[in-house]
Amino acid sequence: MKYIIVCINDNVEILDSLYNKISRIVDSDYIIESYINAQQALVACLNNIIIGNEILITINGNNTSDLSCEKLILELYKKSPNTKNIFFKESITLESIEEVINNASIYKIIPNQLKKIDFELIILEAIKLNAQERRLKEYQDVLEAAVDKRTKELNNINVKLNILATTDSLCGIKNRRSFFESCGPIISYNRRERKPLAVLMMDIDRFKYINDTYGHAAGDDILRIMAQKTEKNLRKSDIFGRLGGEEFGVVLPNTSEQGALKAAENIRQEIENLEYVSSKNQSIKFTISIGVATLNSQDINLDTLLHRADIALYNAKHSGRNKVVLFEEDFINR
Ligand code: GH3
Ligand code: MG
Ligand code: MG
Repeated sequence: MKYIIVCINDNVEILDSLYNKISRIVDSDYIIESYINAQQALVACLNNIIIGNEILITINGNNTSDLSCEKLILELYKKSPNTKNIFFKESITLESIEEVINNASIYKIIPNQLKKIDFELIILEAIKLNAQERRLKEYQDVLEAAVDKRTKELNNINVKLNILATTDSLCGIKNRRSFFESCGPIISYNRRERKPLAVLMMDIDRFKYINDTYGHAAGDDILRIMAQKTEKNLRKSDIFGRLGGEEFGVVLPNTSEQGALKAAENIRQEIENLEYVSSKNQSIKFTISIGVATLNSQDINLDTLLHRADIALYNAKHSGRNKVVLFEEDFINR
């Protein structure tokens, strides 16, 4: 990449003088280009930008082409806003100064008689300023990239933390807290809209025996299988969670008593027909009991509803296990 210093002037002597002065203070990283015509200068500048060079400074004097230096700067600014544009005082009107300042930028306005000023110092300062701006930009880019990276990392951490906080680590389904949180709004909604909703309370039968006979690891596998099979039988809109130990809960929105009993029976049968082979090559069969209850107008949250499903589950356990039982008011008095 080269830094380009563009001189535009229809006076060849001035162009020579500019070239001589600038070439004394810059090294081979810089290219001094001289044009008597602003139109040619603009084309050359745009070509330089395309090949990756940077237009560092323009020194604008009189020019006879259709394109004025002011217009050249306005065009160039769109592609190269950091270029330091120097104008000769005699070749620019007040009006066009205003236009260039408002729509692009002017670094300095200098007199035609270069002897009157320390021209080399002006160029050196422009080069220095440009380098400082470039370093600042690089620093900002590095800083922004670092902030970006950190923000992404924090977002990822938050997503992971949220998953950890709401998921049961063994079965990969909702944990108790998340289950209750998820059910709250849908229960309020269905109650308000008088839409049906059902709850299943599921519990693995004689799970203690399974643990004691086949080991805790086999017990864990069975919990996972139970979760997988149940999930497979549910709709996307159903809410399923592990309530603790070998107990699971399901909320079935917009589901009637018959619908819930059918869903529960499907799950029960699927588990009953399942044969799990443990890592020790033991074939294990297990069953589940399910209590079912449906939403009524008195249920303000999940608690009362789940309590009725729990009573139904208790009834299923005490009437032989491996069955689905619908809650009945009678159960309370038994
Ligand atoms: P019931 O048919 O009446 O439900 O009998 P049960 O043996 O299933 O019920 P009980 O409440 O007596 O035993 C539940 C067992 O579940 C005891 C407990 O150690 C076991 N358990 C709870 N959480 C886990 C777990 O995460 N992994 C394993 N492997 N066992 C668990
Ligand atoms: Mg049990
Ligand atoms: Mg239990």
